[in-house]
Amino acid sequence: MSIPELPVTLADVAAARSRIAGIAVATPVIPAMPLPGAGRYWLKLENLQPTGSFKVRGAASRLGTLDPAALERGVVTASTGNHGRAVAHVAAARGVPATICVSVHVPPGKVAALRATGCEVIVGGDSQADALVTADTLVEQRGMTLVHPFDDPQVIAGQGTIGLEILEQVPATTTVVIPLSGGGLAAGIAVAVKATRPDVRVVGVAMERAAVMAASLAAGRPVELPEEPTLADSLQGGIGRTNATTFPIVRALVDEVVLLCEQEIWDGMRFAFDQHRLILEGGAAVGIAAVLAGHLDVAADQDVVLICSGANAEVEHIIALAQGRATPPA
Ligand SMILES: *Cc1c(COP(=O)(O)O)cnc(C)c1O
Repeated sequence: MSIPELPVTLADVAAARSRIAGIAVATPVIPAMPLPGAGRYWLKLENLQPTGSFKVRGAASRLGTLDPAALERGVVTASTGNHGRAVAHVAAARGVPATICVSVHVPPGKVAALRATGCEVIVGGDSQADALVTADTLVEQRGMTLVHPFDDPQVIAGQGTIGLEILEQVPATTTVVIPLSGGGLAAGIAVAVKATRPDVRVVGVAMERAAVMAASLAAGRPVELPEEPTLADSLQGGIGRTNATTFPIVRALVDEVVLLCEQEIWDGMRFAFDQHRLILEGGAAVGIAAVLAGHLDVAADQDVVLICSGANAEVEHIIALAQGRATPPA
């Protein structure tokens, strides 16, 4: 297979690696405790990043491309989850002003946690979409730079540095299994891995509930779906009607997409906790979950790397894991 012309290249990923050094860490890969199937399974522990998710790679990569004047005007985003935390953290580490726009429905605890990093939080509007409009206004009025959670070549290149590390840590890798939402993580890793190892199989995993990327791939264009509550809340949300970057890359390079029900996701979180004493949020346990549920066809002598993308599970879920609850909390 020849790699088609895509908006992010291996050279972009390699360049991002030096920009993220000192902010993101090269995370360990550990052998997984026994899982079903004939392969050897490895866990790539992105839950160990500062702020508890890989999103710090993309944020550090993007901020690292800004010139001094742009850094002085600051950065803005509209995410309350792992991306917002990562942007706030990277901005604080570099002494750059950051503004996070959130809707009025975001819990006060989350707003307080963001403010504690030293960023400005603007609360307003009824939805995430409204918060994004506020962010766009700041781009126009204050000349701030919008740091998109996924649809940005430099963000994707930052996430792709995971792929470079995997090829060094597990040179025999045959399959990489990646949580999939907006597609920045999957696109970046796929570009990095397939540039030198086009034979490596790249699998995306998401929840059945409002799997927007999967629906968009099926439709051949970005589609929108109403959000549904899920344990994999970090995989919620759309890919953007005007998606310019992750959709074409995911379409070209991701070989298959697996979708999971809530029980399967919970079983993945339980495996991580029971077998490894690892706390993974639902969206980060979907790789383990896909293997446990038998959705991945793995031949003997395959080396399968499961990306464990984040640690930021709800405290109630952590308590339920420690209590050994077999079914997902409502
Ligand atoms: C953002 C996120 C994802 C999905 O990444 P995309 O680039 O949106 O596909 C997966 N896991 C965790 C923990 C995340 O925060």
